[in-house]
Amino acid sequence: MLARLASQNAHKLGELRLALPGWTIDPIVGEAPDETGDTYEANARIKAVWGRAQAPDVLVIGEDSGIECAALDGAPGLHSARWAPGLDQADALLARLATEDDRRARMVTVIVAHTPDGREIVVEGVLEGTLARDRRGTEGFGYDPIFVPLGETRTVAEIGEAWKNENSHRARAAHALRDALSSS
Ligand code: IMP
Repeated sequence: MLARLASQNAHKLGELRLALPGWTIDPIVGEAPDETGDTYEANARIKAVWGRAQAPDVLVIGEDSGIECAALDGAPGLHSARWAPGLDQADALLARLATEDDRRARMVTVIVAHTPDGREIVVEGVLEGTLARDRRGTEGFGYDPIFVPLGETRTVAEIGEAWKNENSHRARAAHALRDALSSS
């Protein structure tokens, strides 16, 4: 499968490539429009539509992700990339929840993919877990050093990318996309 990711995030690109062996996925370069949607799906669609204009002949993948904390009623969610301006977002989240006992959290990825023949496929991947009390580990990116998947004691950044490429919210969304395409 030839695909283009409507993002220049090298981590996301690398993870999607590893989650989808056999696919050739290249980034779409240029400035994507602002994420003005009020859902992950809407933001992923904004990226896919922008990407479609740049790459009309292949599958275009728009992707949006976030972390949702139970103690914050699901925040920062859609705003995970920029909710604490000027700060490291993961450190800011730890500080925000420093006195909070409810550590439940989930990571979410929504993919909106547009096929060359004009179809849209929407899939989601979720990874349930808890927030650590401090940063641990060096792999991955973003919130990985503070996110402990359900059933684990280590953070995603400690467990490592091989696990992430099979089990993460993004890998789950990628596998759902592959399954949807192969059954359509
Ligand atoms: P966006 O999808 O690029 O808007 O990312 C939203 C926020 O979530 C950013 O702060 C990312 O660093 C973070 N993020 C996205 N995907 C992951 C992930 O797989 N692990 C940890 N943090 C992530």
